[in-house]
Amino acid sequence: MFNQAMEHTQSSQLLAAPALIERVETLLLDLPTIRPHQLAMTTMQGQTLMLVRLYCSDGTVGVGEGTTIGGLAYGAESPEGMKLAIDTYFTPLLLGANANAVPAIMARLNTAIQDNRFAKSAVETALFDGLGKRTGLPVSHLLGGRMRDSLPVAWTLASGNTDKDIDEAERMLAQARHRIFKLKIGRRPVKDDVAHVAAIKKALGDRAEVRVDVNMAWSPLQAQRGLAGLVDAGCSLVEQPVRRADALADLKGRFPIALMADESLTGPASAFALARDSAADVFAIKIEQSGGLRAALQVAAIAESAGIELYGGTMLEGAIGTIAAAHVFATVNQLQWGTELFGPLLLTEEILAEPLNYSNFELQIPQGPGLGIVLDEDRVQYFRRDRTQVSVGSAA
Ligand SMILES: [Mg+2]
Repeated sequence: MFNQAMEHTQSSQLLAAPALIERVETLLLDLPTIRPHQLAMTTMQGQTLMLVRLYCSDGTVGVGEGTTIGGLAYGAESPEGMKLAIDTYFTPLLLGANANAVPAIMARLNTAIQDNRFAKSAVETALFDGLGKRTGLPVSHLLGGRMRDSLPVAWTLASGNTDKDIDEAERMLAQARHRIFKLKIGRRPVKDDVAHVAAIKKALGDRAEVRVDVNMAWSPLQAQRGLAGLVDAGCSLVEQPVRRADALADLKGRFPIALMADESLTGPASAFALARDSAADVFAIKIEQSGGLRAALQVAAIAESAGIELYGGTMLEGAIGTIAAAHVFATVNQLQWGTELFGPLLLTEEILAEPLNYSNFELQIPQGPGLGIVLDEDRVQYFRRDRTQVSVGSAA
């Protein structure tokens, strides 16, 4: 696997041609999902991707993606808001900039624009994609090189129905696509949720690992009862059972089950605070939540220094954001809990010329320059929100 990557490097042009950013394009794509996706805070019926493309003076184009879970249900940024922020505030800072100086551009954006981490992640992805295309190197190589060429991918069972979830898990096992399952709980009474998890784990047995994500829905007291029940159910990890970081810290170490921080992790500063307070066993690293690819690696470095284990998280990004995250996760020393980079599999429509390769329970990380993916431009244009009026008839 490594040989393949090395051969590619030897044939590459290793110096980036000068490239100034000449045009910034943003667009919204609306894509249907394979089924309603039920989370503690919302039920998703579809997914909206915000794409940003940076057109450079040497002819290269870098692409990035910003996506959220359920519009504004999960956090303060939405695809529509990201588009507006980039069009209005990012673009004037990007136009004319040397696209090869990725850290300098990001420093400029971080100085002039507070927060907007998801939008910054989309822009940094586009910058790295462009730089990779100019140098002939995959984004993972630009970030320091790979530890691995493929990533284990957990599947989220979130139909809201125990039997349907078991059927879905059995299909995933039969297809050799996933053998780690994350159950979305927190909507129902704790004892019902625990019974749901126990029934699924019992049906799957040792053939699969079962984890849960509560998405902050439990009070500290509910969490104590819930965690005790989840241990008995054979669940291995619980993700963000409570909202507050101090409540998370109170729970850690009290039950023999891994406690993972997700919503509490909003970039390197929060990672440092969580590590300092010993508030989690595992961090869910996300490029968007972190504010970009390099910021995500800072979160990973803090975790590694503190003895906190790592999991590659998702905001249910489409193919572009998913692969950007995959390049980041390829480079970390240890990824003890694998990833949940299944976002593209939740969508019914493909926007890549060649679909991502999910096989043998893992996602293969592309070897080509930049993100290593090619958009199917006809499909991108077809799913643009501002074209929906024209194409909705034929889409049915
Ligand atoms: Mg989560």
